[in-house]
Amino acid sequence: MILKGLKDLKRFLEKPKNIVIVGHRNPDGDAMGSTLALKHYLDKKGHDCTVVVPNEYPDFLHWLPGSETTYRFDWQNSQSQKAIQNSDIIFLLDFNALHRVGSDMQQTLEKYPNDFAMIDHHQQPDDVKYMYSDVEICSTSQMVYQFIEMNADLDLIDADIATCIYTGIMTDTGSFRFRSTTSTTHRIIADLIDKGAQNDRIHNNVYDANSYNRLLLLGQALSNLQILPSYKTAYITLTDEEKKRFDFQKGDTEGIVNYALSLKGIIFAAIFIEDSEQELVKISFRSKGNFSVNQFARNHFDGGGHDNAAGGKSDVSLAETITKFTGLLSTYKSELETSYEE
Ligand code: 5GP
Ligand code: MN
Repeated sequence: MILKGLKDLKRFLEKPKNIVIVGHRNPDGDAMGSTLALKHYLDKKGHDCTVVVPNEYPDFLHWLPGSETTYRFDWQNSQSQKAIQNSDIIFLLDFNALHRVGSDMQQTLEKYPNDFAMIDHHQQPDDVKYMYSDVEICSTSQMVYQFIEMNADLDLIDADIATCIYTGIMTDTGSFRFRSTTSTTHRIIADLIDKGAQNDRIHNNVYDANSYNRLLLLGQALSNLQILPSYKTAYITLTDEEKKRFDFQKGDTEGIVNYALSLKGIIFAAIFIEDSEQELVKISFRSKGNFSVNQFARNHFDGGGHDNAAGGKSDVSLAETITKFTGLLSTYKSELETSYEE
């Protein structure tokens, strides 16, 4: 855990400030939940906060309280730039390095004259002035709860803040099932329900909001599933043509990789998603036990993340990417055989 300058940060925040809060590109439930929760909390403390979201985020997160107040850096660029220019500090949430916001926004942030405060749970964070970094914590949203607790402000958590934090914890823990889910996580969740988070509604809004096409895309993905039992590995591919056929929308592929990991005996799973527009293949990796997909993604696919959930990319064709991936597995055979006890 890294705690850096948090007393100074507390002192800095004693007077009302203009604050910008930023999550990573391709925001997920934790990025949206943590940034919006922090905004609601700091607004309550008398600050003026703006959440700037790098790019589009899935429909199933648009209901989050405060979502309508955010600026999108890619298509509300002048408002976003203005908010950044007028801010006294920028909070960086749920990412560990500036390039994770995408290159346009990264350039703006690199020129930022004031200080950054980072709250994040990814490994190997960049060094900024104020830091609360802990790779052991399941989600940045749980860290926002603990940040509020450090400031002795748990009483300020209302139903909106509780809802945002609950959502981020729920999505980053696969609904409280990953190893990172601790008794502390469950105690926090219990407190959030007491403070007004409606757990059934949140699960419904996030997980039971599928379009028919999204289910058909899932069906296609499952029929593309390849299993490599000798490496305890399974992977899924989706081509651009398949995405188009089922009217792909942002977020439609989220979670599909977990179906590959749900196979009995499989401990390493990947999904490869073709994106011709950006001329790359976006990859998600998941694992069980000690096999670090963070290291695998860093070493081979220009990515990173956590030990059991990471992402990366490839700038060769989908077919060449799969050849590279399957070719790498023999190097990891013994690690894959021993990294998880059922
Ligand atoms: P997902 O597979 O759900 O997109 O991402 C899983 C985890 O890996 C998340 O914590 C995400 O922030 C991280 N991640 C995803 N893609 C990348 C990437 O290209 N680079 C890095 N450094 N991390 C990534
Ligand atoms: Mn996260």
